[in-house]
Amino acid sequence: MSIAFDNSYARDLDGLYVAYEPPAFPDPATVIYNQALADELGLDAEVEAHAATWFGGQAQPEGASPLAMAYAGHQFGGFNPQLGDGRAYLMGEVVAPDGRRVDLHLKGSGRTVFSRGGDGKATLGPVLREYLMGEAMHALGVPTTRALAVVRTGERVPRPTSVRLAARKGEALPDAMHGHEALPGALLVRVASSHLRVGTFEFFAARRDHDKLQRLADYARARHYPEAEDAAELLRAVVHAQAKLVAHWMSLGFVHGVMNTDNCTISGETIDYGPCAFMDAYDPQTVFSSIDQHGRYAYGRQPGIAAWNLARLAEALLPLLADDESAAIAQAEAVLGDYGPTYNAAFLGHMRAKLGLDGEAEDDLALVADLLERMLAEGADYTRTFRALADERRGKRLGLLSLFSDTAALDAWLTCWHARLGDADVADRMDAVNPLVIPRNHKVEEALDAAITGDLDPFRALLAAVSDPFTARPGIDAYTQPAPESFGRMVTFCGT
Ligand code: AMP
Ligand code: MG
Repeated sequence: MSIAFDNSYARDLDGLYVAYEPPAFPDPATVIYNQALADELGLDAEVEAHAATWFGGQAQPEGASPLAMAYAGHQFGGFNPQLGDGRAYLMGEVVAPDGRRVDLHLKGSGRTVFSRGGDGKATLGPVLREYLMGEAMHALGVPTTRALAVVRTGERVPRPTSVRLAARKGEALPDAMHGHEALPGALLVRVASSHLRVGTFEFFAARRDHDKLQRLADYARARHYPEAEDAAELLRAVVHAQAKLVAHWMSLGFVHGVMNTDNCTISGETIDYGPCAFMDAYDPQTVFSSIDQHGRYAYGRQPGIAAWNLARLAEALLPLLADDESAAIAQAEAVLGDYGPTYNAAFLGHMRAKLGLDGEAEDDLALVADLLERMLAEGADYTRTFRALADERRGKRLGLLSLFSDTAALDAWLTCWHARLGDADVADRMDAVNPLVIPRNHKVEEALDAAITGDLDPFRALLAAVSDPFTARPGIDAYTQPAPESFGRMVTFCGT
């Protein structure tokens, strides 16, 4: 058997999904296939050979049980009781040779009962973007969904012109340019440790279907947190996983862009790379998403938003925590209280590692905050600053001087930092946690523009660069520079 399916969601959670028959695309073709991930999952050569037909809907691999998952979600703070897989489906679960179980999930696969007004489709650019971002995050050590493949559907999909062009230019288009263009249709084969979201629980909680809610919670515990003995323990495990995840994002300057509760996983993996991006100049107010007018999901707000999302999960789980409502609320609040300390400890841990700090000194957080304040004042590139600091320890200050103009203020900070480090040899250790390469927005756009016209070489080169983010090597400078002024302000779009 070429895919070792064992579909626990379909088997155990009858009534929590809708069985789905994927439509066949006319002329599917594999654009890119993730051999390293396939090997990890024990997928043999037959899977790659059949990728276009299986994932393009022309045939189903043996053992698949396609289904569309029900979920709800708070989107930009407002509750939508019915979202669900509207352009995606779960093909089945693969059991890897190491025993790990993952979802094989297809995005851009066509309409389902959950599609509402949408066409159920995705286009090549955003799908390749999600592939790239997942691989970059994985290489950076961040828990994430990953892509197994991108398949072109052979269709052209109409999308507003403004979406692609404004995304590139970062500015509003003149009215005359608003229209539709036909973009290459594509689908993403996504691998996740599951697709359970906060929104999955909200769906059944909103319907007061406590039986399904209980089955879902039991399923989530067994699948992700077998040590959790009840719904409160499940909540605690998710609180910890999400707190650590967002602390990791923050340490890397990652902006998710659309932290709705339907994009907040129970496993603690990053999911749904739509309008996400890495910030270049450090600024807590950094927002990339075109639809985030009020900066709800700005870089600096992410820790608070994750806590808000977890409070929505706690609310959904209330009926399972205790029969008496006020007792349930007290329990939920006690568990949510773990978030702050867990986040703070994880964030400080990452920042200590980034600055090469051994052990724990009382002033470490102040040292970090001081540096960030100087970076903000100077508009210093977040990623480059930490590599330049390692070079500073090697006696090479040029990098820092290109980032900071107020050398007196910089020197004051450096004096404290050097004093805290003493004579510890930390430069190489710092380079091992501070990426040299992140998927810089202008490089991503350049690669996607070429890919849409049929040239995948820049995409493959960028993918190779972000897949080895810590190692300096010949030719890598092309990927480490901030965007040229002419690139303008980056704006990203989701749902495209
Ligand atoms: P996303 O922005 O991909 O996280 O999706 C949010 C919700 O909108 C989910 O319920 C999706 O299934 C739905 N959705 C997004 N794009 C489409 C589309 N083109 N057609 C149908 N549903 C969509
Ligand atoms: Mg989503």
